[in-house]
Amino acid sequence: MLVTLKEILKIAEEKKIAVGAFNTPNLESLMAILDAAEELQLPVIIQAAQCHEGFVPVSVIGPVMIARAKEATVPVCVHLDHGETLDYVQKVLDIGFTGVMFDGSTMPYEENVANVKKAVEMAARTGASVEAELGSMGRRESGAGDGAGAGDDTKIYTDPMQAKAFVQETGIDALACSFGTTHGIYLTEPRLDFSVVEQVRKETDGMPVVMHGGSGVSSEDFRKAVAAGVRKINYFTYMDKAAGTALAEYVAGVETGMPVFFTEAAVKAGAAMKENIKEAMKVFANID
Ligand SMILES: [Zn+2]
Repeated sequence: MLVTLKEILKIAEEKKIAVGAFNTPNLESLMAILDAAEELQLPVIIQAAQCHEGFVPVSVIGPVMIARAKEATVPVCVHLDHGETLDYVQKVLDIGFTGVMFDGSTMPYEENVANVKKAVEMAARTGASVEAELGSMGRRESGAGDGAGAGDDTKIYTDPMQAKAFVQETGIDALACSFGTTHGIYLTEPRLDFSVVEQVRKETDGMPVVMHGGSGVSSEDFRKAVAAGVRKINYFTYMDKAAGTALAEYVAGVETGMPVFFTEAAVKAGAAMKENIKEAMKVFANID
């Protein structure tokens, strides 16, 4: 069933778990995520990232995401990941997305607030919920190293007192916080500061905290993050890598001179992705 971000985060809060939020830049990932969620009977967030528009336009995959969410036997939120412009936010709201993230984390604070407030107004018209970000997660969702705070040393952690003001001024439903994670493939061992999450939760009366950039994070640290109050975990790079590895193995296994079929490769890639997603979902939901 299709639910809003706010509704799905309420379930997470009640169960003291984090809901996995997985990107769907192709049909294989969309099917793998929903199959995994239904097998484990866990709520799930499927999300289209604005920077993945080149892989598949949201006008193509968006309506499919909505249709599949409605048919699912578990609660599903259809969310925009890292919305960069308000026009794009409006575009996905028109498609029927039930959650949107406006990422103004690289903007000056006041500009971030002004844009997020507009996103909250726009989302309210369709009953959708809003996620925003404070602090810098280093590299952008695309994994490119050109974002503010590129490289681990220059990362800017979320300031809990600023988070308090930000939440009050904007009226958001979820806050992406920076506490030591990085997008993309990790370059150095992440050093996470869980007290940032605890402090943000304390100052914001328990606002659901979103964790981006789980790359290189151990299962143990994911569980600690959930215990500290993380209620949504964005996960994509490693499931995509699992699919790529399965694809490479399939191609390598085809005898020289024999044809390589894309559809067969895609099915194998999807199966590998599903197993990877299930393992992540179990960790986020505190299932052994
Ligand atoms: Zn992110």
